[in-house]
Amino acid sequence: MSRTTDRLLANPSPLLLDGRLTGGSGGTFETLNPATGEVLGSAADATAADMDRAIAAARRAFDESGWATDVALRVRCLRQLREALQRHADELREITIAEVGAPRFLTHGAQLDTPVDDLGWFADLAESYGWSQDLGRAEPMGMPSHRRVVREPVGVVGAITPWNFPHQINLAKLGPALAAGNTVVLKPAPDTPWCAAVLGTLIANETDFPAGVVNIVTSSDHGLGAQLVQDPRVDLVSFTGSTETGRAVMTSAAVTLKKVFLELGGKSAFVVLDDADLKAACSYAAFAGIAHAGQGCAINTRILVPRDRYEEAAEITAGTLRALGADDPHDEGTICGPVVSARQRDRIEGYLRLAVEEGGSFACGGGRPEGREQGFWIEPTLVTGLTNEARTAREEIFGPVLVMLPHDGDDDAVRIANDSPYGLSGSVYGTDLERARAVAARMRAGTISVNGGVWYGADVPFGGYKQSGLGREMGVAGFEEYLETKAIAEGI
Ligand code: NAD
Repeated sequence: MSRTTDRLLANPSPLLLDGRLTGGSGGTFETLNPATGEVLGSAADATAADMDRAIAAARRAFDESGWATDVALRVRCLRQLREALQRHADELREITIAEVGAPRFLTHGAQLDTPVDDLGWFADLAESYGWSQDLGRAEPMGMPSHRRVVREPVGVVGAITPWNFPHQINLAKLGPALAAGNTVVLKPAPDTPWCAAVLGTLIANETDFPAGVVNIVTSSDHGLGAQLVQDPRVDLVSFTGSTETGRAVMTSAAVTLKKVFLELGGKSAFVVLDDADLKAACSYAAFAGIAHAGQGCAINTRILVPRDRYEEAAEITAGTLRALGADDPHDEGTICGPVVSARQRDRIEGYLRLAVEEGGSFACGGGRPEGREQGFWIEPTLVTGLTNEARTAREEIFGPVLVMLPHDGDDDAVRIANDSPYGLSGSVYGTDLERARAVAARMRAGTISVNGGVWYGADVPFGGYKQSGLGREMGVAGFEEYLETKAIAEGI
């Protein structure tokens, strides 16, 4: 790792403030390897004064540089960033595995390679987008006018991100926000500063982004996120994180009436219909449910199976979870690695105790894996014997912990799936495709997979119903979140 950081990233890693790589006024803070608990290195610890400078730089770059109107420059810079990230993909992969505990196989997809590649999609979209629409002539109230509608960047975007898929989420904000012509202050989670600092380093050293267009502010202090939300110079807050923090963000943003875009938590349902191939469905639900130790907002953590096949379904699911196990994230075959921190492990263990208190049992797992004394680990776990009323079945656990619930047919499955404060994602598995589609259509969630279909991609809008969020990320809809609409009428 030290060779990696020597080549790509300074240790301590820097902030990117107004085009310069710099230390933080608060000194440094440590970043840990979740698989071992060891200190990997450290990152610049920004203070409120550093955040203030970052916001001022982004404001100035938006108001005074040509960034907001120069589509060709934006496209060039985004493509340069993509190429720089691809040039350093091997080093980035090792940093991601070490800092996030992400299993290597996922770095070939959503943890690294796919979001980097997707930057190109946003550059292409900016190039082909219809920035202006001619509505033609009309005579409203007898006054001849020629009307146009133009789309413009919103201004300064405050991007606040979590630790679970840092590249995916950081780039899913930077890509569309920058392609649309905004300037950005990115505040990543304190658990994964290096994944963000790498972006700052490459932007400063290997691209033509004008000073102040992108500012990256790592800090051990969550309060800097709150500062970004409150500052009147910030026009839009793009937030990904827990529903609880999202609520605080929305409340606080109301003071300056800024636009908020929220990607929040989930407790999504995987519905197995009674005509499904039970083995295929439950094996897939187990695999997808514990990838990256279940630390994905859209992971389907409630498995709904036909009541008369409940025991059989639990056996298949538990068997798959046991076979997958939790292993070293560096290994190509690992699906479930560590959880990110001692805090998250302790939180998950609290839910394991709660599951038992609520009358649940563990069909497998329920503790820490053997031989993993160092680092932060939880065994892949299946909880059985609960109803959808239990807190274990309703609250987001954010670990490799799945809950199996019985259903009494399609209507009941839809009812249980929708009986949640969340509405981020969901899955349906069944042999009769029309029937599976009908169930999918009734599920109140932003993304649905039918029979293992994968909805993830740059061109697919992603986001939540209900308390899973507001707005959409990715796709044309996601890009347009970062645009204002202006109507212009010329008297003729
Ligand atoms: P979190 O809400 O604790 O923190 C997210 C970010 O918000 C961090 O950068 C944090 O420093 C910052 N923050 C904390 N308090 C703040 C405040 N008062 N104002 C502004 N910013 C503040 O979430 P986390 O633990 O980092 O991430 C896990 C959560 O993220 C889970 O709930 C998960 O479902 C959710 N998530 C959602 C999506 C999605 O797209 N819907 C994707 C990934 C993760």
